[in-house]
Amino acid sequence: AAASTEKVPVTVALGDGIGPEIMGATLRILEAAGARIAPQVIEIGEKVYLSGNSAGIAPEAWDSLRRTKVFLKAPITTPSGGGYKSLNVTVRKTLGLYANVRPCVSYAPFVDTPHDKMDVVIVRENEEDLYAGIEHRQTDEVFQCLKLITRPGCEKIIRYAFEYARSHGRRKVTCMVKDNIMKMTDGLFYKVFQEIGAEYPDIGQERFIIDIGSARIATHPERFDVIVTPNLYGDIISDIAAEITGSVGLAGSANIGEHVAMFEAIHGSAPDIAGKGVANPSGLLLGAVMMLVHIRQADIAQKIHNAWLRTIEDGIHTADLKGEKTSRVVGTDEFAQAVVERLGQLP
Ligand code: ATP
Ligand code: MG
Repeated sequence: AAASTEKVPVTVALGDGIGPEIMGATLRILEAAGARIAPQVIEIGEKVYLSGNSAGIAPEAWDSLRRTKVFLKAPITTPSGGGYKSLNVTVRKTLGLYANVRPCVSYAPFVDTPHDKMDVVIVRENEEDLYAGIEHRQTDEVFQCLKLITRPGCEKIIRYAFEYARSHGRRKVTCMVKDNIMKMTDGLFYKVFQEIGAEYPDIGQERFIIDIGSARIATHPERFDVIVTPNLYGDIISDIAAEITGSVGLAGSANIGEHVAMFEAIHGSAPDIAGKGVANPSGLLLGAVMMLVHIRQADIAQKIHNAWLRTIEDGIHTADLKGEKTSRVVGTDEFAQAVVERLGQLP
């Protein structure tokens, strides 16, 4: 089908700290690449919290999100002191963002990493498991947290992982569970993995027990492709995997719901370097690239991704990446300009 030329409305939050700088750079690159989006800016984060709204997001912002169904979010600061709820948790719960998708890629030799061949996508279930928030005090000395795993929850996340693999040209999906011990909960997750997997004979499939699976990510990340796993395991292995790419500042992530999806960088608002024009916009830009694929503008996504890779490979780096292969250390805007100049060049 021919791509639509109509602009897709997208809700955008500029965020706190380095947020406005990296969002400015990201939007500039998207515009230069011809992304067909119409940003609607909403206010979230520090200012909203400090105005007395403990959720950090105003009611009008929800209206925009329900209209556009696509959210590009810069990092925000949760003010210190009690009473403020995590905006990420609020957004995830309210919008039913059941899948957290985090690509973890090594960019050796441009970024130091213990593993130069790593290209793993972690698909983490985001609503159930021990995060369902069901905790009890049974006696003075006994506390209990319930691990909740549902068949519909398993079906949604596992189908998402297989569809992601197929649409992104991935070859294998690995299921990580502890079903030798938790035979009912993790057992159900793996059972659904096998059932749904049967509908995807073109995609390789395997199961790892989470303990040895995590160890293998740390020692042999190149053997993994897409990994699907329940919430808690996913939380832990996403950080392990991001850490061993050596490039936490270069990673974006997606939070996918049935109706709405949110895209962001995995790092925080970096108040220590805010306003200095030195922040690396790459994490947010790569989140925006995932967003473009989601709204069916994969051609533009590819064009931006190639130009970005080319920039990194040409040694044009923000200060956080400075290393042996650096030819020029640039600020946020100059980095964005370098990406723009490389749009449409062959990789
Ligand atoms: P938050 O509480 O918002 O998560 P944080 O300080 O815990 O903030 P980050 O904001 O992720 O965590 O910052 C960790 C370190 O990495 C800081 O020194 C910060 O300057 C640096 N950093 C994070 N993101 C970037 C970026 N995009 N470009 C350059 N440096 C960054
Ligand atoms: Mg932090």
